[in-house]
Amino acid sequence: MEYRQLTSSGIKVSVISFGGMRIPDISEKEAYNVVNKALDLGINYFETAYYYGDSEIKLGKSLGRKRKDIYLSTKNGYNKPMTGDEVKKSVEEQLKRLQTDFFDFYQMWGTDSMDMFHKITAPGNKYGAIKQLMKEGVIKHVGLTTHASPEDAEKMIETGLFECVTIYYNAYRQSFTKVAALAKKLGIGVIAMGPLNGGFLGSESKELSFLKRGKAKTNAQGALRFIVGNQNIATAIVGFKTVQEVEEGVFAAGLYSDITNTNDMAEITEGFKVLAKTIPEAVCSSCNYCMPCKEKIGIPGIFTLVNNAKVYGTIEFSKNRYKNLKIKADMCSKCGACMKKCPQKIDIIKDLAEAHIMLK
Ligand code: SF4
Ligand code: SF4
Repeated sequence: MEYRQLTSSGIKVSVISFGGMRIPDISEKEAYNVVNKALDLGINYFETAYYYGDSEIKLGKSLGRKRKDIYLSTKNGYNKPMTGDEVKKSVEEQLKRLQTDFFDFYQMWGTDSMDMFHKITAPGNKYGAIKQLMKEGVIKHVGLTTHASPEDAEKMIETGLFECVTIYYNAYRQSFTKVAALAKKLGIGVIAMGPLNGGFLGSESKELSFLKRGKAKTNAQGALRFIVGNQNIATAIVGFKTVQEVEEGVFAAGLYSDITNTNDMAEITEGFKVLAKTIPEAVCSSCNYCMPCKEKIGIPGIFTLVNNAKVYGTIEFSKNRYKNLKIKADMCSKCGACMKKCPQKIDIIKDLAEAHIMLK
């Protein structure tokens, strides 16, 4: 396993880490097996959140006495300032759930705008409360997680208030590449979330097979190999659900030397640019102007699944996602309200009917 520096104080973490967001979908026994396989294979950074179902509880039970051998990170209050009292109460409960008496990292979750950044750092709110808990030894390090614009993310990390930053970064979504480089320069560890873009890059599609290079045998391995090839990334969080996924992730973690000194990162980036050029002009741009739909259909999300399947060949991924939607395209009552608002003049009613046939 490759370990990289996460904090300027010298903490080193495995380049692939354990995201606890998917263990609510599996049984307690399965969670135990997955977590312990990750421990056995050298993963030493485990990440969860209060709102990931029973993730904290399952992680606490699965880690057991090995908890002290790893770095444990959690968070609460997505895009919310939280008062000092709310933070204290939450941390007390989270400690119990995770069966520990301290957290290595607590993340300022979903600090997605400068406005929210100012709110969480205002006196009496989340950041101050975490700093107090750090003085008491309950929390060791504080980090930032953000989906803000890259420019705003840079402003946030330049304040020097955080020891690490979690950003959305993968072979397909690279808008935070410069943020990662700046953070590394400032001595702030970079944690990549969404390394498989929500599973999309793990699809065994022919169109995405340019990810499979060097020793990577699957598209998923190729996507992870791309991330570990970026030396500005300290670790990438993968939401593991099976022992096989852990083994595959750890295998990919070992591919950093396989991608170093190759032109593969640039060629993969170019591969996505070439595919993006095949996207027709009059296609849904996910602008959301058509929303809300009176039947609560997630119109842009459904069109994204269709367009991704057509352009990137990820039909199985799209079908799986569609299967999990509570309100599907065939719920359209053809009121026509959305069509009047679409700047792309998309025949939404007709396209939704086609989407349902394609994805059901
Ligand atoms: S036409 Fe269908 S999709 Fe559009 S707003 Fe009406 S119900 Fe929703
Ligand atoms: S208004 Fe049109 S382009 Fe915008 S999200 Fe809706 S369907 Fe897509």
